[in-house]
Amino acid sequence: MTSQRTRERLIQRLMEQGITNYSVLDVIRTTPRHAFVDEALAHRAYEDTALPIGWGQTISQPYIVARMTELALQAGRPNKVMEIGSGSGYQTAVLSPLVGEVYAIERIKGLLDRSRERVRALRLRNVQLRHADGLDGWADKGPFDVILGAAAPEVIPPALLTQLAPGGRLILPVGGVDQRLVMVTMGADGPETTHVENVKFVPMLSGTERG
Ligand code: SAH
Repeated sequence: MTSQRTRERLIQRLMEQGITNYSVLDVIRTTPRHAFVDEALAHRAYEDTALPIGWGQTISQPYIVARMTELALQAGRPNKVMEIGSGSGYQTAVLSPLVGEVYAIERIKGLLDRSRERVRALRLRNVQLRHADGLDGWADKGPFDVILGAAAPEVIPPALLTQLAPGGRLILPVGGVDQRLVMVTMGADGPETTHVENVKFVPMLSGTERG
């Protein structure tokens, strides 16, 4: 059920949905998504769907991981990437081979501890994980070429914009009930926002949880 054929079917589906970046498709093909969910759900790991990972959170749908990663790479290979809401660590693992460094933040300690083990097992050496509130960003590691969020704040957090490098891009779901994925590019004349598509993410919450 985690066979090569099941994985190929997922890649096929992502291509049908408009994912065209072959580096992204290749990384999704080779990243063991079944290792990022509980064993009881491993047989569903290559379905194009979000799945529960505990603490009321979900591992992102492969389509949205592919789409956001594609947007992250659109202007060439980014050097420094900050990820907010790393959850299971799946998006983190997909980014790792495609960028210079990944700085990933998660507010729930229990999730972070598990993803730390996965990152170690997969030997992703360019990944740093931090237990913190991503609404504040990670100022001392910035500025970032890309900031990618996997949870939706009501409005774009101002701290994140100040941590974008010139030409950098923030890729983030924004909103409450009606969410949209936006991409903010930091141009010479200030930030420029484009609407990518409507999405459904868990909310970006302030503070941290020790559980
Ligand atoms: N890409 C992850 C998505 C996990 S769901 C995956 O595929 O597993 C989104 C995650 O964002 C949750 O784990 C949630 O705890 C986290 N999150 C929400 N608000 C946050 C914040 N302010 N700072 C850091 N993480 C946050």
